Amino acid sequence: MPAKKAPTPSEANVATAAPSPPGAGLSQVQRALRKLGLVRDIDFALYLPMRYEDETRIVRIADTRDGDMAQVEGVVTECEVVYRPRRQLLATIDDGSDTCQLRFFNFYPSQQKQLAVGARVRVRGEVRGGFVGRQIMHPTVKAAGTALPNALTPVYSTVAGLAQPVLRREVRSGLARSVLDETIPVQIGFRGAWDLRASLTFLHYPTPDVAMATLEDHSHPAWQRIKAEELLAQQLSQLQARLERAAQRAPVLPPAPPEPDAASLHSQLLAVLPFGLTGAQQRVGEEITRDLCREIPMHRLLQGDVGSGKTVVAALAAARCIDAGFQCALMAPTEILAAQHFGKLVGWLDPLLAARGLRVAWLTGSQKKKERDEMSAAVESGQAALVIGTHAVISEKVRFHNLALAIIDEQHRFGVAQRLALRGKATGHLEPHLLMMSATPIPRTLAMSYYADLDVSTLDELPPGRTPIITRLIADHRRDEVIDRIHAQIAQGRQVYWVCPLIEESEAVDLRNATETRDELAETLGEPIQVGLLHSRMPTAEKQAVMAAFTANEIQVLVSTTVIEVGVDVPNASLMVIEHAERFGLSQLHQLRGRVGRGAAASACVLLYAPGDSGRVGEAARARLKAMAETGDGFEIARRDLEIRGPGEFLGARQSGAPLLRFADLATDTLLLDWARELAPVMLQKHPELAQRHIDRWLGTKAEYLKA
Ligand code: ADP
Ligand code: MG
Repeated sequence: MPAKKAPTPSEANVATAAPSPPGAGLSQVQRALRKLGLVRDIDFALYLPMRYEDETRIVRIADTRDGDMAQVEGVVTECEVVYRPRRQLLATIDDGSDTCQLRFFNFYPSQQKQLAVGARVRVRGEVRGGFVGRQIMHPTVKAAGTALPNALTPVYSTVAGLAQPVLRREVRSGLARSVLDETIPVQIGFRGAWDLRASLTFLHYPTPDVAMATLEDHSHPAWQRIKAEELLAQQLSQLQARLERAAQRAPVLPPAPPEPDAASLHSQLLAVLPFGLTGAQQRVGEEITRDLCREIPMHRLLQGDVGSGKTVVAALAAARCIDAGFQCALMAPTEILAAQHFGKLVGWLDPLLAARGLRVAWLTGSQKKKERDEMSAAVESGQAALVIGTHAVISEKVRFHNLALAIIDEQHRFGVAQRLALRGKATGHLEPHLLMMSATPIPRTLAMSYYADLDVSTLDELPPGRTPIITRLIADHRRDEVIDRIHAQIAQGRQVYWVCPLIEESEAVDLRNATETRDELAETLGEPIQVGLLHSRMPTAEKQAVMAAFTANEIQVLVSTTVIEVGVDVPNASLMVIEHAERFGLSQLHQLRGRVGRGAAASACVLLYAPGDSGRVGEAARARLKAMAETGDGFEIARRDLEIRGPGEFLGARQSGAPLLRFADLATDTLLLDWARELAPVMLQKHPELAQRHIDRWLGTKAEYLKA
């Protein structure tokens, strides 16, 4: 709910009017403000500038240097429109110390009038000092002599249809109207002279003597105060979510018997696995089992590097549920991945389930209606004890008999809404337990803050017999060496992945590009080597046929776009070539690399890179490639990724499900985070109303209106 309104907002300020249906009857300015999430007075107050302009001083023209942002005042001595080399307005001003030329390529007649010879003007812009003397391109021009402001001028990030001066005015009045009473109780609060109003006022309108660096790096006490408030809001809301969840009820599994029951599906599945579990798999399996036996719905993230064996852990958890007479669902982000899970789990489980009159169901969007109806019926009757598929699993039409456990593979690929929909597949009043799996480990600081509402299990051990993957960076002009490597691998009976990047936004162009690469490779490698192509645009049946041929080694080289990024499992593949590796994200590269090194053969990953137009690989790209070459450890990769990208981007606003921090930085504001984490439970317990007000103030209705 919106925070309390200020008493009687001025009528002119429509932004404070009661929220009407999104978009209806709004002026262009209002719509633009909403796009920025600016609805309530407090939203304006918390909309902090991205930078400042110093209009508090006037300098002598003679004292300005090349590159300075400067404000000068002088008399216009010349003003004319010239047409060569192109139409432009040229004016000269003189302040007695020196002269400065003003140049406009696009200008209004009013500007020309303002710069009439003899007028005294105040001019602000970036000074360039060429041979022809000083010059400012497109300066802002005002009449001289008006009072100088005594604070820096804020510059806000804006959108089309919302001019900076208008936005400034809106923010100023929103801030003035905001009720900024303290929500942090004094006796447990943040100590310091900067209260909320003082801090916000200062950050919008800092005094000119401020050390600019402390505003830029957010170390100024006013910034500390704001960041502390924000972190507290985030901690409070997560704690609240956790408490709410604790009030829900999930199906309860009976405790695992001390002696395994040989007749159980769980034991039988263990017996048919062609390998024993790693220590990590056993430990994590126990953590999950413990959760399943509690009546609070599980909310657990299973993180483990690519190849660490998450699927088996999931299957065993499913078996426990089925043993207790419940259903399970396993959802994957792509059809290929879902099909792989299905193929593997059906092989292991179907015979065991059949003996119990049960089965595994398969649900995807591309399925024929008849088949889907049949599967849906099996799900509804409960005969399908395990349901595997894509988003189709959570489609409204699918009704479960008694869903106890929902498993989401590659959870970061799913949006919050989809995760919620899966949880909503409750039976009666019971919420299913939720197990999310991800190969992109969440760095510890993030786990503690964003995912405070999540329990985390980690597979920190790879199955035995894997050999480390050797990673090589090779410049694109040395492609020939890569061809030699491919020949060598195939001569040993091994197989190769070749990944083409997404170059264009258009899939059609990518497809053409991948197709050309396939043809080229087929020609270069020659008979009898078979080169296949996999692309997300291909019909499902065709994709599956190609995957099957690759799995059977009828195809030796598989060219693909990033379709294979997640989950694909062909242990005989021992070489991964990634073209234009500089264009991929770090976790994506690591995931791709994880497609090899799954068997006992020594495996390698070749990152082909090509410098861009500048002749160099960009700095961030270089850092990513370096990280890949230096480490194969998924956790270290995640840490570096966080370092390169920062937590906001790392999570991705849409994916995280948690409101992103606008001001605080989890990587550096660790002391403030500790403070907020300690305070949140105390505040929620002792001052619940203040806690609620604090959450509303900071997180409020923003998300809702961003969509409008
Ligand atoms: P990921 O964690 O990347 O999803 P998978 O579950 O696909 O990993 O497992 C990778 C491969 O390792 C699969 O072929 C799987 O059958 C195999 N595997 C899983 N656990 C073990 C184990 N304990 N010992 C040997 N191989 C295992
Ligand atoms: Mg997997």
